[in-house]
Amino acid sequence: MNEFEKVGVSFVKDLRRIVGERAVIYEDREALEAYSSDESGGVYYSHLPEVVVKPENAKQISEIVKLAGDARVPITPRGAGSGLAGGAVPIYGGVVISFERMNKILEIDEENLVAVSEPGVVTNDLCKKVAERNLYYAGYPMSVETSFIGGNVATNAGGSKVIKYGNTVHHILGVEAVLPSGETVRFGGKRRKDSSGYDFVRLLAGSEGTLALFTKIFVNLIPLPGKTVDLLVPFKSTEDAVRNVAVAIKEGGVLPTAVEFIDKLSVKLGEKYNNVVLPFSDTAEAYLIVQFEGKSREELEKIYVNAGKALISHGAMNVFVADNRTNSDKIWKVRRNWLEGIKAFDPYVPTGDVVVPTSEIPKIIDFIKILSKESGVKIPVAGHAADGNLHPAPMKPEDMNPAAWKDYSEEILDKIALKAAELGGAVSGEHGIGFIKKRVLAETKPAQVSIMRSLKRVFDPNGILNPGKLFDL
Ligand SMILES: Cc1cc2nc3c(=O)[nH]c(=O)nc-3n(C[C@H](O)[C@H](O)[C@H](O)COP(=O)(O)OP(=O)(O)OC[C@H]3O[C@@H](n4cnc5c(N)ncnc54)[C@H](O)[C@@H]3O)c2cc1C
Repeated sequence: MNEFEKVGVSFVKDLRRIVGERAVIYEDREALEAYSSDESGGVYYSHLPEVVVKPENAKQISEIVKLAGDARVPITPRGAGSGLAGGAVPIYGGVVISFERMNKILEIDEENLVAVSEPGVVTNDLCKKVAERNLYYAGYPMSVETSFIGGNVATNAGGSKVIKYGNTVHHILGVEAVLPSGETVRFGGKRRKDSSGYDFVRLLAGSEGTLALFTKIFVNLIPLPGKTVDLLVPFKSTEDAVRNVAVAIKEGGVLPTAVEFIDKLSVKLGEKYNNVVLPFSDTAEAYLIVQFEGKSREELEKIYVNAGKALISHGAMNVFVADNRTNSDKIWKVRRNWLEGIKAFDPYVPTGDVVVPTSEIPKIIDFIKILSKESGVKIPVAGHAADGNLHPAPMKPEDMNPAAWKDYSEEILDKIALKAAELGGAVSGEHGIGFIKKRVLAETKPAQVSIMRSLKRVFDPNGILNPGKLFDL
């Protein structure tokens, strides 16, 4: 039951006083609609906010939060809206706080190897800026060109390089955050160690806007890695491909930066969408893309020769090597644009995001194949195989109406998510729970959800911050 108050005229007047007339959207349906959904599927999962506010600093956010707390109006934080779990969808209306104007990189501290960023910086802008100083932010997701660093922290985003570098939380040294009380608190900072009490940075990363609003992010930097080489490896069966994930990880002699999986259906759709043809695409059932980093061409050559030989001896049809930018872009294009490629042919496609221990990838792939056959639904799959994170994307059968498809596709994705958890994995590897995966989270982690609820009450006793996300009210 909705226990919140509606946004009234005097509330909006106060918002305008705090941030200025032009930073508030109210009673403009078309403008509000842009803040009603994310990339999880606006067709199904959208809800109009009553008002959108675009603050510029922590002080303004603190005032907005106090105002909303007093008025019992729910707040939904929004980064770039590239989320795939509905986290930024204002399901109870209320205020959307958009971080789009907090888009400054405040500092690149080369001595401490830390960047301090506002939350609304597009992650790729941060990557480019630090690269100018030969530094590297290794935590970025595949949506690096669209998502914000604040959204990445709030979802604890992953990506293709987790096997070598870890996901977002491993690169975040601290955050400044406004709490639902309006208090601004810094957790962590430029230091790399901190054993003084609970690790709040780890708790807040992945909290999906339910505990605090990030206003500054302290990002760990490392020296820019050397050269890279990419291998495109076709296999005649998906079984062969997934069995070779372990080979790719172990046999090059160094840890790869990425081992990505993409199946035939995904490749076929991707070829059409990107207007490219991958070698062996008529006969290969699946591909791995393996990336290595090394200091010199000679070192890289040794690595890819070792890895290539091992992959061929374990059943690879061939190994295509890309050691320059142009060829590498060709190899990655279909994988990078995987979701867009499928959406071009099916606008109703939802994206699953399960994770399993890498040894269980064959079992989850088998499960998806059987489910696809039984349900009569095509389910292309791609994913970050090196860390066991797979994205099944069920496609709407042409003759099924969109309303029925919503329920059917959710049922399919829930079954896959529950199987992943049964195999020792989890119902989300990197996209988060939002409101779309609450059911399966509750089913697979009941004790943990109960603790999450208790923590939520400590941070947000009035329950105004992103209500209905992660778990029901
Ligand atoms: C084509 C495509 C590829 C993708 N690839 C990946 C991938 O490789 N890895 C991956 O992990 N994800 C991926 N995603 C999903 C998405 O990009 C990530 O979840 C991303 O981290 C979301 O960032 P955002 O800025 O868009 O956040 P939003 O979608 O705007 O918000 C996400 C969540 O964060 C909260 N939030 C946002 N900003 C703040 C803040 N400042 N303070 C507190 N809470 C906040 C919101 O309330 C919401 O719960 C992909 C999405 C697309 C469309």
